[in-house]
Amino acid sequence: MSMNTQGRPTAPGEAGERFRPKTFTGNRGLDMEEPLIFEFGGLETSGVDLDEPDDLEFELGSHKRTASINLPGLAEPEAMRHFVRLSRNNYAIDSGLYPLGSCTMKHNPRLNEKMARLPGFGDIHPLQPVSTVPGALELIDELAHWLMVMTGTEAVAMSPKAGAHGELCGMMAIKAAHTAAGRSPEIVLVPESAHGTNPATAALLGYKVVAIAAKDDGTVALQALKETIAKHDGNIAGIMLTNPNTCGLFERDIMEIADLIHAAGGYFYCDGANFNAIVGKARPGDLGVDAMHINLHKTFSTPHGGGGPGSGPVVLSERLAPFAPLPFIRKTVDGLDLVETEAAVYDGERPFGRMTAFHGQMGMYVRALAYMQSHGSDGLRQASEDAVLNANYVRVGLQDLMTLPYGERPCMHEVLFDDSFLKNTGVTTLDFAKAMIDEGYHPMTMYFPLVVHGAMLIEPTESESRASLDLFIATMRDLVMSAQRGESERFSGAPYLAPRRRLDETGAARKPVLKWTMPEPAEVTPVAAE
Ligand SMILES: *Cc1c(COP(=O)(O)O)cnc(C)c1O
Repeated sequence: MSMNTQGRPTAPGEAGERFRPKTFTGNRGLDMEEPLIFEFGGLETSGVDLDEPDDLEFELGSHKRTASINLPGLAEPEAMRHFVRLSRNNYAIDSGLYPLGSCTMKHNPRLNEKMARLPGFGDIHPLQPVSTVPGALELIDELAHWLMVMTGTEAVAMSPKAGAHGELCGMMAIKAAHTAAGRSPEIVLVPESAHGTNPATAALLGYKVVAIAAKDDGTVALQALKETIAKHDGNIAGIMLTNPNTCGLFERDIMEIADLIHAAGGYFYCDGANFNAIVGKARPGDLGVDAMHINLHKTFSTPHGGGGPGSGPVVLSERLAPFAPLPFIRKTVDGLDLVETEAAVYDGERPFGRMTAFHGQMGMYVRALAYMQSHGSDGLRQASEDAVLNANYVRVGLQDLMTLPYGERPCMHEVLFDDSFLKNTGVTTLDFAKAMIDEGYHPMTMYFPLVVHGAMLIEPTESESRASLDLFIATMRDLVMSAQRGESERFSGAPYLAPRRRLDETGAARKPVLKWTMPEPAEVTPVAAE
């Protein structure tokens, strides 16, 4: 038995290895069972200790509340513990490697957080007079400037709140440009490997989506594209293409694709979610892109968080620039002006409308600019290079055991495996992913992109150290070998060590229960009076 310097044992003895106590509390050490706040916070108690106000005149008329609002009453330490305990059940980028492909979580540098909390940025309000926030306008303009420089484009709409929202914005600009030219083409081309938000965006705007097949190497089939364009001659609004694509591969024919679409009278929408792989290497504007959203949370280190608060600025080519939505910043001789209404636009500016109530996500703008400025152009280029290097390090570390659908060619920022290596093991892709949870890893992206059977898409990101990648690779190798040795129990019931086992994920997505309702009070039978 190993002892520390005071002679105390530092590891359990033989028997201790095997025994797992069933605890009275349901807690397992630091892994706490935590009820809903409504279940333990008494509705009758209040943590507030104020005198009842005298002579208070209610001015709410019929809006005066009559029933209790049923907020749980907790003392500060109880509230604090509740949320801290819950937070410990969360897997987070700050607790371990987060290998999600495409929708990568990146480290959020603490410097960005410090900048975003500066009172001059953190405490401003969107309804404040514009004359009181020249610094904020300058920051938005500066960020916009660098986004245009990095992408080689002419304009940027800053207000969209996420990648998908940016897609909608870019496609609305494309639709507005067609309308302004007196055209109304009906079709948007979307490659098979596209992220689901691409066809959804096109469909939301009333376009018909036509899929373009992929070649055996995972990139767009030019021949199929040419045939589809010929078939729908004159009716093509544009193409939505992700580059690098969702198989982690660079679309080498991108310039030819751009030429074909432009010759067909369409616009080239690029899904820029994976821009983190090419920053400082290639400028989408030079490749023929007309519109592209940038997920600040995927490329410029701003936090994700349950879908928000996000920011997905859209860069636009010269041809689409006039259609950028309100509000936008205009440079004048007297400084920066915020153009907020149709009445304030100049000739030549033809905004298609507006996407958001206010100006966008100020907190994310500050973080993204802090990230850019702290890295500089050489640092941003290196971040892209490291992202690609790390993904290839994982690829090479696993390619002899796991299967690569497109062969052993280099990938970009993410590496795509398929599940053929699990054939005849009885272990499914889902089981494999669940076993990763027991090892303390968030699973990779699974079953996406749909073009590959049992896809497993891994994006380690640039911020993982070599030691962290080595441990991840070793863990994955151990899992693969265990599956191939037939240790199916390790997988079929996994996760064994998480606070909950397998949940009804489909049910949770389709029929989410988002509101707590008070259980019916138990029926009390009145005792008959004598
Ligand atoms: C993440 C992602 C999107 C959507 O971005 P959100 O900010 O999550 O709305 C679109 N396309 C691709 C390829 C993505 O990875």
